[in-house]
Amino acid sequence: MPPVELILLLLSPLFLLCVVLEWRYAVLKKLSWYQWRDTVANASLALLHQGSDMLAVLLLMPFFYWLHQYRVFTIELTALNLLLAFILQDFLYYWFHRGSHHIRWLWASHVAHHSSRLMNFSTAFRQSLTYPLSGMWLFWLPMILLGYDPKLVFAVVALNLAFQFFVHTQAIGRLGLLEQVFNTPSHHRVHHACNAIYIDRNFAGVLIIWDKLFGTFVSEQADEPCRYGITDDFNSTNPLTITFYEWRRMWQELRCKERSQPAWKVLLKMPGKLPAKEYR
Ligand SMILES: [Zn+2]
Ligand SMILES: [Zn+2]
Repeated sequence: MPPVELILLLLSPLFLLCVVLEWRYAVLKKLSWYQWRDTVANASLALLHQGSDMLAVLLLMPFFYWLHQYRVFTIELTALNLLLAFILQDFLYYWFHRGSHHIRWLWASHVAHHSSRLMNFSTAFRQSLTYPLSGMWLFWLPMILLGYDPKLVFAVVALNLAFQFFVHTQAIGRLGLLEQVFNTPSHHRVHHACNAIYIDRNFAGVLIIWDKLFGTFVSEQADEPCRYGITDDFNSTNPLTITFYEWRRMWQELRCKERSQPAWKVLLKMPGKLPAKEYR
């Protein structure tokens, strides 16, 4: 089993425990954080995503090792090099994630993660099986070329994703000084919100410093509660509808006889954003 799936599988009992505890808390406090159809959709999407990701990594591993022979350095497994691997991968994740909100080909996969109007731990499971098609793996190639072993790179990717599970919750408020350096539930609630002031902000995986450095950081405002979801009127709990929503729209635009844009623009350019007053 590839390292990504193994690490996430080993952590899955902890993930499930968090979901159950958060759900019980929401029931006791009469908070509408969970809807069973939404949670079932999230769980189904997680299984589909894990399956396609495992297949993609297995198929691509020979290519990654072929590329690895052209590495610039041979990087030894020291504590410092491991730490640098985490920081570098998190930096690359920031650009992958930022690109996923601005390049339609990437957004077609990423929209699944944003398409729920709820925010809870199970939202972290809401992923698309089409990430390998969009080319998420391309973003890790610089690390392989630099000299990190491909298996190590994918283990680091998995740990980054595992960390991100814990930022999908409304149950945790602000975390003091940690807010300055790390991506936290508060920062990630902003990322999932479709309020005009929050949209396309806080792309961090683990370290929020990237958003602060590159001008995409916004903190959660007490007078602006987050409204979760995308700006379209999309509200499905069917895993296939969720997965292929944007791909279908792209395909329909490509096939439209009165199309005004060239095909490459349909595939790469994001559809126009709504004026602020029209955001849900
Ligand atoms: Zn996102
Ligand atoms: Zn998220």
